[in-house]
Amino acid sequence: MTHAARRLAFACSIVLIIPLGQARTPVASGTGGAVATISEQASQSAIAILDKGGNAIDAAIAAAATLGVTDPYSCGIGGGGFMMIYLAKDKRVITVDHRETAPASVTPTLFQENGKDSDFDATLASGASVGVPGTVRGWHEALSRYGTMSFRQVLAPAIGVATKGFEVSENFQRMSAGSQKKLQLFSSSSALFLKNGKPLAVGSVLKNPGMARAYRDIAAQGQKAFYQGPIARAIVEAVGKPPVAAGVRVRAGAITLADLANYEARIRQPVKTTYRGYEVYGMPLPSSGGIAIGEALNLLEGHNLKSLPRASAEHLTMEASRLAFADRNAYLADPEYVDAPVAGLLSKDYAARRRTQMNAERAGPKVLAGDPYPFQNDPSVPQRPQAARLLADNAHTTHLTVSDKDGNVVAYTFTIESWGGSGIVVPGYGFLLNNEMTDFDFSGPHPNVPEAGKRPRSSMAPTIVLKGGKPAFTVGSPGGATIITTVLQTIVNHVDFGMPMDKAINAPRLSQRNDAATDAEPGFAGSAQALALEKLGYKWRAKPEEIGAANAIVFNADGTVTAVSEGKRHGVGSALVQKSAN
Ligand code: GLU
Repeated sequence: MTHAARRLAFACSIVLIIPLGQARTPVASGTGGAVATISEQASQSAIAILDKGGNAIDAAIAAAATLGVTDPYSCGIGGGGFMMIYLAKDKRVITVDHRETAPASVTPTLFQENGKDSDFDATLASGASVGVPGTVRGWHEALSRYGTMSFRQVLAPAIGVATKGFEVSENFQRMSAGSQKKLQLFSSSSALFLKNGKPLAVGSVLKNPGMARAYRDIAAQGQKAFYQGPIARAIVEAVGKPPVAAGVRVRAGAITLADLANYEARIRQPVKTTYRGYEVYGMPLPSSGGIAIGEALNLLEGHNLKSLPRASAEHLTMEASRLAFADRNAYLADPEYVDAPVAGLLSKDYAARRRTQMNAERAGPKVLAGDPYPFQNDPSVPQRPQAARLLADNAHTTHLTVSDKDGNVVAYTFTIESWGGSGIVVPGYGFLLNNEMTDFDFSGPHPNVPEAGKRPRSSMAPTIVLKGGKPAFTVGSPGGATIITTVLQTIVNHVDFGMPMDKAINAPRLSQRNDAATDAEPGFAGSAQALALEKLGYKWRAKPEEIGAANAIVFNADGTVTAVSEGKRHGVGSALVQKSAN
């Protein structure tokens, strides 16, 4: 998401391990498969599928579909995402890009009105912000290529939750309140998620028969049920003539039946870098996540972080992030439209040169992008794009992670972009449409301007880390552009500071994205750590908010797995293992 005001961050995450019937816990260890998600029902769906003999891919889709019911403001079939899969038999990592695309009618001036950028907040809740959803197609590709079960099998648990309903928690109510203004604009959305225009009471049961119907149609007819036929027609109608409440006017969009029928997911090779003996696999373009994290790790590798005082090591981590963000903002966009200098940005030689711009003693000023082209070693990428404007990002989404008894691993981040997406529930089908088009830069020249069929640049960063060719850990988070800093910080906490993963995740988060001010979480300012960083020149952004909702699985040397979710953020996560270790 590309804009100023950061609102409440939110995410659906699956990385949590809790034996069924026991108290919910954010950390669990055991053997067999493991799942961690922000939603207990979603974790249980994954375990149910693993227990029936499904693999990690089957279970991840079952969990994701359930999150679409229990965390509808963050994710669902109205959006898109990036799934990273470690295939144990082949010992390789692949990714399924099912990012939303711009409809065929889109031009670079989509978000220009009278020569100026369109109003951002008005654009967020509009048909024009909706990209062609990719989630169902992504699930189809993942299931048919790497799964073992049918849509009918993996969607069954989510259909159960949508039909029977789930209890509204305080966290759900908070999320409803965060989306309330947007939901009120659309009659289909307020009818489903609000009562008398207000969030549902804590403890009330929310059923979503429309969502159950959409899933049943997909279970019966496969992905075509979504991309052709009644659901597709309902999407076209909702985008072209948004179902607004009386007296409300919003901008319409122009997704056609052909846009939906033509949507394709992409199987992409991950980006890879090495870091202190680990092999770090990251999400490639059109996500900037893997490249920015890889570049920052390469910059940090030249410093012995663990020998430094904590504040100095954190300062260097933020400087590395600052430099990586300047490059990310300047160069990265959909690789089918832009020749981004990925090899140069990830080269260790480029890092060695760029590292000279890190001031070890002081928080640096805003920096310009570096020049990775001399390090590119790829003659197919000859041109420098125009200099870029830097944009702030927002934060809402879901990350989940699942492993199975055979050693397959899934790290999956998916989203409808901002909290509550476009605010438009597709009438009759109970899911919110994304507003992913706002992840494009509104004006150019810039590699990431809107174009027909293009995928907006993302920050999502599902990450799988190997050591000696075997999975060591996986980590990911929601949080818009803060995803990059959350994943980077968690890796540094775990690898450099030697923190167990639960401590690495629960540590206070900071996010420096080449801005004058740095994001810190509520309660951080005034702490000893904050004061130590202030002495190095750090200033904290006003109105601190929770950053991210990370999930991880650690693959222990003794063959057990430890799944870790947030202990405090976003409510407590829920982790389950097939067989808990006692
Ligand atoms: N739309 C964001 C992205 O792709 C993710 C949404 C979020 O986490 O807030 O980077």
